[in-house]
Amino acid sequence: MALRFYNTLTQRVEEFAPLEGNTVRMYTCGPTVWNYAHVGNLRTFTFVDLLRRWLRYRGYRLDHVMNITDVDDRIIQQALAAGKTLTEYTEQYTQAFLEDCAALRLERPERLTPATEHIPAMVKLIAGLRAKGCTYDSEGSIYYRIASFPEYGKLSHTDFSGIRAGARVDTDRYDKADARDFALWKAPKPGEPFWESEIGPGRPGWHIECSAMAMHYLGETLDIHVGGIDLVFPHHENEIAQSEGLTGKPFARFWLHAEHLILESQTMSKSLGNFITLRGVLSQGYPPEAIRYLLASVPYRKRLNFTADNPKAAATAVERLRNFELRLKTEKFPEGASEWLQVRAEQARQRFEESMDDDLNTAEALAAVFEFVREANTAMDAGDFRSANVPPALDLLERFDRIFDVLRPSEHAGGLSDAAVEALIAERAQARARRDFARADQIRKQLAEQGVILEDTKDGTRWKRH
Ligand code: AMP
Ligand code: ZN
Repeated sequence: MALRFYNTLTQRVEEFAPLEGNTVRMYTCGPTVWNYAHVGNLRTFTFVDLLRRWLRYRGYRLDHVMNITDVDDRIIQQALAAGKTLTEYTEQYTQAFLEDCAALRLERPERLTPATEHIPAMVKLIAGLRAKGCTYDSEGSIYYRIASFPEYGKLSHTDFSGIRAGARVDTDRYDKADARDFALWKAPKPGEPFWESEIGPGRPGWHIECSAMAMHYLGETLDIHVGGIDLVFPHHENEIAQSEGLTGKPFARFWLHAEHLILESQTMSKSLGNFITLRGVLSQGYPPEAIRYLLASVPYRKRLNFTADNPKAAATAVERLRNFELRLKTEKFPEGASEWLQVRAEQARQRFEESMDDDLNTAEALAAVFEFVREANTAMDAGDFRSANVPPALDLLERFDRIFDVLRPSEHAGGLSDAAVEALIAERAQARARRDFARADQIRKQLAEQGVILEDTKDGTRWKRH
C-alpha cells in the first residue's frame, strides 16, 4: 500500500506524492516565541519531525519552511511589560526553542526563519489582495473581506455564509463564533512597534506571515501544510483565504493537523496556565530520548494524555530496546540461522513500514518492533537465536531508529563521552587482568558516579547509562 495521509481539507485518507518531481514542499507553522514552548507544542513539532523522517525514508527530498512568529499581540504586550524591544524579548525564547528541539533531536527544517525578516513579502501580498478588491481599510488598518472569498470555511468545514459583511475582528486568535473580517495590517498604536511601508505604517496581523513566507519560498501551491489542530480555525482558514484570494490556485494540497497533548483532561496551553516545559520534565531526571519516545508513540491524530507516569513508561520502553541492541552486539550466538526468526524479522519490517505509510501510525509501527524484540529475546534465552539472525534484527532496529531516534543516549552536559567510558572500561579490564582489583573497583565507582552502569558477562563488559 502506498504512503497516505488524512487530509483535513477533504476529510479523507489520500495517497500522497509530491506535485513536482521528488521534492516535497512543506510548510509548518512554527512557535510563537512569547514564552517557553510547552510539551504540547513540542508534541506537534515532534510529529513534524517524524513526518520529515518518514518522507525521506520513502525516498523523497524535502524543502521545508518553518516560521518563527516573533511579532503578534501577545509578544507585543509582554515585550512592553518587560520594557524590552521585540527582538530583545523574543531572542531568549527563540534560543530556548532551538535548545528544546535539539534535546528532542528534531531535525532543522531546510529554512527556519523569523516573521519579522519577511515584512516586505507580507506587504507585497497585502498590496496584491488590495488590488484585487479582497480588502478594505478602516482607521489605518487593512482587513480581509471574507465575502470576497466564497470558499471561506472549506478547511474547517463550517458554513460562514451568514456573517455580516463589514463586521471585523482585531485580535489574532478568536473562536468560530467570532468569525469576521480579520486584520491583515494593523494601524500603529502608541508605544507599539510598527513598520513603514507602501500600504502605510503598521504591523502585520498573525495570519499573513504564513501565507507570505510559504509562497515566497515554496511557490503558490504547497504539497503539505502542517500545524496543531487548534490552527485549523481561524489561522489556516485565513491563510487559505489570503493565498487563494490572490493566486486563485489551491494553496496546499494536503493539510495535516496534530491533535493536542492533554494534561489533567484539559488541553495543555500557555494561556490556560496548565503547562509543563521540556526543561521541567527533564529536571525530574528523565532522559530527553524518553520524552521524544513518549511524544512519538501516540499516533498524531489521537490525543496524548500526559500523566506523571508516562515519561517513566517511555524510559522503560527505550531501555528495553537498548538492552536488546546491546545483546545483539555483544552476545555470542551459535552458528547458523533459525529460519523462523528470519521470517519474523522480515514480517516486522514490513509491518513497521506499512504502519508508518498508514498516516504515520506510530503505535502500530512500535508494536511490530516490540513483538519481534520479545520473540527474539525469548529465542536468545532458549539458545534458538543464531549468529545469522543478528543482521536482520539489527537492520530492523536501524530502520526503527532512523525515525524514532532514541537508541543513542544523549551526552550529558559535563558527563563522560562514550569514548571516555570505553577507555575507562578497557583500563579496568587491564587492571583486572593483572589482579589489581582495587584499581578496577575504583574505576567502577568512578563510572557509577557518572551514571554509567557496568555489567560483566562471559562475553566481556557491557555498559549503559543510568
Ligand atoms: P504556538 O507557539 O502557540 O504558535 O503553537 C505552536 C504549535 O503548537 C502550533 O502548531 C499549535 O497548534 C501547537 N499546540 C498548541 N497547543 C498544543 C497542545 N496542547 N498539544 C499539541 N500541540 C499544541
Ligand atoms: Zn501559520
